[in-house]
Amino acid sequence: MSWTANNLTGIAGIAHGFLGIDEALPPGTLFCNQKHTADVLDAAAAAASCAVGDGVFTGEKTPVAVLTADCLPVLIASRDGQHVAAVHGGWKGLQAGILDNALARFDQAGVDRGQLRIAIGPSIKPCCYEVSAEFASLWPDCNPPWQHTRPAPTRPNALPQPPAMNEDGLWFDLAAYAGLLLAHQDIDAQQVEVSDICTCCHTQALGSYRRRTHWPAARTQQFSWIARV
Ligand SMILES: [Zn+2]
Repeated sequence: MSWTANNLTGIAGIAHGFLGIDEALPPGTLFCNQKHTADVLDAAAAAASCAVGDGVFTGEKTPVAVLTADCLPVLIASRDGQHVAAVHGGWKGLQAGILDNALARFDQAGVDRGQLRIAIGPSIKPCCYEVSAEFASLWPDCNPPWQHTRPAPTRPNALPQPPAMNEDGLWFDLAAYAGLLLAHQDIDAQQVEVSDICTCCHTQALGSYRRRTHWPAARTQQFSWIARV
């Protein structure tokens, strides 16, 4: 099972997919040795063995990918289909500026930011992403991407949700946090498509670290890829 985003499907010359745990990448796909960094490598650098980074950018016809469990798989393409990037958006990388760095790659290639289309694939949603008050204190923001009441799953949930850990837990929206960061970088909300699928409670076809902490699973990660074709 895999998923696609409408805003990328609509771009001629681009192929992409948010894969389930049992789906294979296209042959020759490049991805980095991910370490929750803010580094977005050019595909040529990513091709080096064990190159550390959390995003790959390219103008070549080489598929690029990221591996995620509950973090955001962020796929970016220029509307002319000439440049693409795959970015791993965990909270550490987001906070460290990985989206800024990805956008800078497109800037350097001469792509106007208004010409970008960004798709955030299946990731953990606030229905299942409880964080501590200490964690939330990392964002002294007047408009924080979390809420005090646990929201219902975004889709009818086939899987049980993790039990709440705290009576006063906070429910974090990682994609909303990415949206705030993108807005600060002059990306209009209409340029961004966000999947409503929760990796934790929607389907066993997607891996989830958070789900694994409650219910053991053999595989917990999946790839998301994008390519010029
Ligand atoms: Zn959920």
